[in-house]
Amino acid sequence: MAKRKTALVTGSTSGIGLAIARRLGSEGYNIVLNSFEPEASVSDAIGAVKSTARGGVAYIQADLALEQGTDLVIDTIARFGRIDVLVNNAGIQKVARIEDFLQEDWERVRAIILDGAFQTIRAAVPDMLSRKWGRIINIASAHALVASPFKSAYVAAKHGLLGLTKTVALEVAENAITVNAICPGYVLTPLVEKQLKDQSQVHAMSKEQVKREIMLAPQPTRQFVEVEEIAAMAAYLCGDMARSITGTSIAIDGGWTAH
Ligand code: NAD
Repeated sequence: MAKRKTALVTGSTSGIGLAIARRLGSEGYNIVLNSFEPEASVSDAIGAVKSTARGGVAYIQADLALEQGTDLVIDTIARFGRIDVLVNNAGIQKVARIEDFLQEDWERVRAIILDGAFQTIRAAVPDMLSRKWGRIINIASAHALVASPFKSAYVAAKHGLLGLTKTVALEVAENAITVNAICPGYVLTPLVEKQLKDQSQVHAMSKEQVKREIMLAPQPTRQFVEVEEIAAMAAYLCGDMARSITGTSIAIDGGWTAH
């Protein structure tokens, strides 16, 4: 058990994070699941990961909007003795015109996406350095590479996350620790379901129009990306064959950023 690697996936009770946790759990990693919600309200997600996990599964409630990223990593190491894989996945979206964008929304988006990743990485790197192996995977977005209107906080935070990815990759490169960003296009998760409502208001369109004319318009495949595609890439990046992939962004966006 002590030799089994441990993976922490932030924001892993839903969508992409849940798929990554399931995939890494089925490959034998101990899994630490996380969200800001009490354990009782995310029991379905925990059960889903446990049903296919080959190692241990723990849930740690920590709110990344409240600067709890450092404690989350400390608790992870306390549970399983180590952290080998860190997936910074937690994220939220706020959609509004720049002139209407609330300061509190700007701060919440930045706190969860950017400050949270900074705190977890800073806390995890010493443990990875001690064993000279680690994998840090930041779930960024096509919006880390290009922009869309009405998403100023999200686009700024995701661009920042890519900068953080590159910087840390340079700092730890000689220690068999890789740091990369996966940049998905639109994936039909609860985060996007919520955006359908917000976007239909801001664009004055129906939800179906938003899907077709806003979301899938820049995605040349005209199809949503599946969560399992992101999970498969995360699993690949954890393998030894990905040891030379570091400091980069991997777009899984149906061709969006080829425009
Ligand atoms: P989701 O809403 O399905 O899941 C988000 C997860 O983050 C949940 O587990 C939620 O509990 C957790 N979370 C939210 N606020 C938190 C907080 N304050 N502290 C801790 N955890 C918190 O979203 P998703 O679509 O699966 O998105 C996951 C990541 O992928 C996000 O970073 C998102 O920006 C990114 N992404 C999503 C898409 C997409 O189209 N769905 C595209 C590109 C990038």
